[in-house]
Amino acid sequence: MASVLGDVLAAQPSTSNALVTAAARSLSYGELAAHVHALADDLAVPRGQPVAFALPNGIELVLSFFAVATLGGIACPFNPAYTQAEFEFYLDDTKPALLLVPRGFLASTPTPPCVSAARKLGVRIKEIAFNPAAYRRLAANRPAVHPDDVALILHTSGTTGRPKAVPLTHANLLATARSIVRTYALSPADNTYLVQVLFHIHGIVAALLAPLLAGGQITLPARFDPSRAWGEFQQCGCSWLTAVPSILQLLLHAPAPPGLRLRFIRSCSSPLGPSTLQQLETRFGAPVLEAYAMTEAAHQMTSNPLPPPNTPRAAWRRKPGSVGIPQGTEIAIYDGATPVATGVHGDICVRSRSVTKGYINNPKANAEAFLPNGFFRTGDRGFMDAEGYLTLVGRNSEIINRGGEKISPIEVDAALLGCSPIIREAVCFGVPDELMGQEVEAAVVLAKGETLDEATLQALVGRVLADFKIPKRIHFVEGAIPKGPTGKIQRKNLTEQFGKKTA
Ligand code: ATP
Ligand code: MG
Repeated sequence: MASVLGDVLAAQPSTSNALVTAAARSLSYGELAAHVHALADDLAVPRGQPVAFALPNGIELVLSFFAVATLGGIACPFNPAYTQAEFEFYLDDTKPALLLVPRGFLASTPTPPCVSAARKLGVRIKEIAFNPAAYRRLAANRPAVHPDDVALILHTSGTTGRPKAVPLTHANLLATARSIVRTYALSPADNTYLVQVLFHIHGIVAALLAPLLAGGQITLPARFDPSRAWGEFQQCGCSWLTAVPSILQLLLHAPAPPGLRLRFIRSCSSPLGPSTLQQLETRFGAPVLEAYAMTEAAHQMTSNPLPPPNTPRAAWRRKPGSVGIPQGTEIAIYDGATPVATGVHGDICVRSRSVTKGYINNPKANAEAFLPNGFFRTGDRGFMDAEGYLTLVGRNSEIINRGGEKISPIEVDAALLGCSPIIREAVCFGVPDELMGQEVEAAVVLAKGETLDEATLQALVGRVLADFKIPKRIHFVEGAIPKGPTGKIQRKNLTEQFGKKTA
């Protein structure tokens, strides 16, 4: 079995299809590996050096990732949509030897933000473009790469504060990728519809590494377009996809051709409302499996289990509202330094081969995160039930404390979403309150053309929530609730945006 990322492609039959791109270009495992080696020869960065990418999803990003891994370098993929100031922060934090950009960027006007930032910081820039002719057999003199070498540096999403730089080794990444293959029984027969961005851990591990480790095929659309997604999915013979709930919401309401067949849908990285899960399952007839992940654990920690083929829906063991059971990890719930009993709420901690050895340049965060026994504090609160299923109640910093009553924002969001099918998005947040310390408010997006007033919605949600949890104010937002760069809800921003208006 492969022990470093560079071996993943070589482990499969070289003539099997690995990747089909938007331009209907298909590459076998053998071709992909040859292109990776050609690019590695071209990049020639020394072992251990970080290489930054400002590349959108595409074949160039896939090749760059494997080429850097093959050289024993460290991939640092950045969101190409960052501003110059953001690029300066990330480039300064990772100190790459090289920045890879798409062809044409160096001469383009206005100067792209990544180019301006790299020039300012003196980082060498190299344009790359897929060249079907640049195709070579295995090159000689590759450095020996060790499973404990760092392969990737990613920043956390910055949902709760400044993004933290997380180094992940080949062994960390392969541990999660293997666990994902096992969780969903991924096989060479699977064709993954890749919609997640490849500059965050969700896309890299669940939608790229795991399917390739399984010897399956990946369909890489040019960009995510909900109006075309299901058509493309069917046309390419895809079998599953993994995405954040905001993308799944769009797909739930997107047009789909008749006869669409899916093995399962995976949801991860943000809470999936149980009502959204039910609607997806009803519409597509496939199990929707919610998983729980974080950058520091190289993605997945738990997931709802895949029902065996042909199991009737009533017997699916996935639990709506729960993020499932540990998958290749140990999960424990702590109150400070003491583990708590089943059912008791506490800090979710994880221990696994996939967990990072520690943040870069952040001794304070490392000291707070690791317990002496090796467990890592996720920063999330939750509880385990008697069957070993984990339920999240929110991030430690986002639990709303109303006069001493702790309110789970995830529970309130789910209740709002479940009130009526015209509610497309619902996110609650705490706002400062003189009397109660904090009060619950919520932002809600309704389906186009629909109306609902605050009092009616409060009454509806009051059927499932105790009075003190009912949002005191509901802000109706047009279009979408703004999210962070990885599609995550940022409650602290909503508190800032709406908390002041109501004060
Ligand atoms: P930062 O650590 O910088 O504040 P972040 O925690 O959002 O940002 P990520 O590593 O991208 O950075 O996200 C991990 C977090 O995402 C988890 O700790 C958890 O709060 C949240 N998360 C992941 N999966 C789920 C899920 N299924 N349901 C709810 N929340 C989830
Ligand atoms: Mg985090």
